[in-house]
Amino acid sequence: MTAEFNLIERYFTRPTTHTSLGIGDDAALIDASNGCHLAISTDMLVAGTHFFEDTEPYNIGWKSLAVNISDMAAMGAKPKWTTLSIALPSIDDAWLSEFSRGFFACADAFNIDLIGGDTTRGALNITVQIVGETPNGKALKRDGARAGDDIWVSGQLGSAALGLAHLTQKQTLDDKTLLRTCFAALHQPQPQMALGLALRDIAHSCIDVSDGLLADLGHILKASNLGANIQLEAAPCLPALKKRLAESFVQQAILAGGDDYVLCFTASPNMYQSITELSKALDVDLTKIGTTSDSNKLLVTFNEKALNLAQLGYDHFY
Ligand code: ADP
Ligand code: MG
Repeated sequence: MTAEFNLIERYFTRPTTHTSLGIGDDAALIDASNGCHLAISTDMLVAGTHFFEDTEPYNIGWKSLAVNISDMAAMGAKPKWTTLSIALPSIDDAWLSEFSRGFFACADAFNIDLIGGDTTRGALNITVQIVGETPNGKALKRDGARAGDDIWVSGQLGSAALGLAHLTQKQTLDDKTLLRTCFAALHQPQPQMALGLALRDIAHSCIDVSDGLLADLGHILKASNLGANIQLEAAPCLPALKKRLAESFVQQAILAGGDDYVLCFTASPNMYQSITELSKALDVDLTKIGTTSDSNKLLVTFNEKALNLAQLGYDHFY
């Protein structure tokens, strides 16, 4: 349909920097580097499920690409190309203009070429695919953790969950600065790309926290056939959450809240010093929250007492 082509031309066609053939043909042609694996991942964002229909379109654009970049960071892959498939209920120029501005702000921040996609009418749905590169043998996989590894988390946990709780009126955040921080975490996640690349030579395993710390760490433990001991007091979070650690809402936000897009990784205790130095060099908070064990059990303590994980909405992972 003509409107579809106009729309693609107007909002999504831009010069590319590392692509032989971009938008406009039946397929794109990319220039893959020698000695690298291509890392490919895709994420679908559905209105009403992953975001509220009335979310700022700029933020939807940013986040739809950012969550995919976060997957590349978790793999230690450098993202280079993306495709964007959207279903739109109608052609709304103001919405598309802001959506594409947010999408390209993120693409520019990480030097990623948009090389194609699909556009159709339907309930609002945004599906982004991303392609990156990682030198052969260097990918950070989930199955590489070893018993006795330190478990680390970057950034802060629970901020996005707190922002969402405010939106759904489960909590009221009166502090404007806190509200701004939590909304930024929820709407404009910052993929930990530089960290992911630096961890290629440091971490044994890595995952990004999209579904909640315990669920995502659980994927590493399951793939690596390990258990873990975690200390809730050690979990990095905003001071506003830290001082309320005894509340079950707060424990839930930190341990089971999704959407933080920080990295959780495991590394040999010998790497402690290197990781501390990396934290300074990248200006990213890196916090050790526990260690892996060969017990096959995930144990979280608070003030040395075991927490009941089922009560926190966390099902045993195997
Ligand atoms: P085809 O019918 O061959 O699948 P389309 O008509 O769907 O091609 O798309 C034409 C071109 O525009 C293709 O290069 C496609 O990848 C690109 N494209 C379509 N929708 C989008 C979009 N939302 N963002 C970026 N590129 C898009
Ligand atoms: Mg098509």
